Amino acid sequence: MSRALHDCVVVGGGAVGAATALGLARAGRRVALVERNARPAFTEETPVTRVTTLNAASMNLLDDLGVRSAIMTRRTHAFHGMEVWDAHSAARIRFDADELGVPALGWTVELIVLEASLWEAMEAEGVELFPGTGWRAVDWRSDRVDLYLNDERCLSGRLILAADGGESRLRHQAGIGVRRNPYRMSGVVATVRTRFPHEDTAWQRFNDEEIVAFLPLSDGRSSIVWSMPDYAAGEVLALGDAEFSERLDQSFGGRLGGIMGADPRFVFPLVGRQANDYVRGRLVLLGDAAHTIHPLAGQGLNLGFGDVRALLEALPQGAGSDPASARSLRTYTRARRVENEIMLRSMEGLRWLFGSKAPVAMHARAAGVQQVDRTAWMKHFFALRALGLN
Ligand SMILES: Cc1cc2nc3c(=O)[nH]c(=O)nc-3n(C[C@H](O)[C@H](O)[C@H](O)COP(=O)(O)OP(=O)(O)OC[C@H]3O[C@@H](n4cnc5c(N)ncnc54)[C@H](O)[C@@H]3O)c2cc1C
Repeated sequence: MSRALHDCVVVGGGAVGAATALGLARAGRRVALVERNARPAFTEETPVTRVTTLNAASMNLLDDLGVRSAIMTRRTHAFHGMEVWDAHSAARIRFDADELGVPALGWTVELIVLEASLWEAMEAEGVELFPGTGWRAVDWRSDRVDLYLNDERCLSGRLILAADGGESRLRHQAGIGVRRNPYRMSGVVATVRTRFPHEDTAWQRFNDEEIVAFLPLSDGRSSIVWSMPDYAAGEVLALGDAEFSERLDQSFGGRLGGIMGADPRFVFPLVGRQANDYVRGRLVLLGDAAHTIHPLAGQGLNLGFGDVRALLEALPQGAGSDPASARSLRTYTRARRVENEIMLRSMEGLRWLFGSKAPVAMHARAAGVQQVDRTAWMKHFFALRALGLN
């Protein structure tokens, strides 16, 4: 069996794992990355499937990693307006980039664009890439971790980084527990054409148990994230194109004049999770492996990129130093666990407030939304948090 010793072995080549591996390699570390799926690739013909909104803090990280310009040339769209409203009152809140004095409120980016651009940069930076490769066993040693791949190879790392998603197998193998909140909700995702232009605005409507967001794309279409109870998602997915469009438009309150066409739909189960620890010995959890949240504020990946930034800042500098220094890893956990917990709880609170039909909750949200919309400093405060610039 061949064995190679690395400073860091990253498991999971999604956006978070790839950004982590790239950042570590740029800091002079010898890095390997293992991904069970094929290498992500993007061409102009690649259809739009999963779109994410990134905030300014995430774009700054991508800039520091040297991939921002590649991402910006690949259908990424900076948007300047954001509007949130409630189906049961006249209350609405509107944010504008000009009013807040920021260049953009967010960016809509396709996940495949992010991943493909990060993989190209990893390759250029000398990260050893193992796409289409799973692992069968892990051996936690005092001075390193040995990861046995599905073939005859073994990768040894002084630090192993789990970025293997919400159901992280490495987290499970390390015996790290997780607090789970099954929302019993699903997110239906599709790309749609609307009668009226999207006005360069990210729209979100709260409608009882449903929350529907329209995210503006560079080609004039919108990417929707429509969260609803699991049983309703099953029904919606079974609808033909015309019925789907009509049902979506109803939930959205007809804001953009009607849905003129919808691409294939995808569905994602929504689960809130928070790992009990982010670090165990020489293992670190990042991104969805550490936490997942409801997508209503579009923050899951932004939090994951926050983890990447915090880890890169916490690890000792100097290629020869042990990256698994207990002090550095404690700094990382302290920087991220509470921050992520606050976001997780805020999303659960918002989801309750906007999903409740109790008169007191309906009154509180109408009054609260109107108050924030009319009060400049409150608007600024909430906008800066959403932009990751708090
Ligand atoms: C409907 C929906 C909408 C969302 N919208 C937004 C948004 O607007 N803004 C935002 O910030 N966030 C959003 N999110 C959240 C965001 O998509 C995730 O937080 C983010 O993609 C997680 O990235 P990750 O790299 O941590 O995990 P993943 O993207 O899950 O990547 C994990 C990787 O690990 C690999 N892997 C898993 N197991 C193994 C193994 N055993 N061996 C090797 N490789 C393995 C997987 O193949 C995968 O490539 C949304 C989520 C959903 C569901």
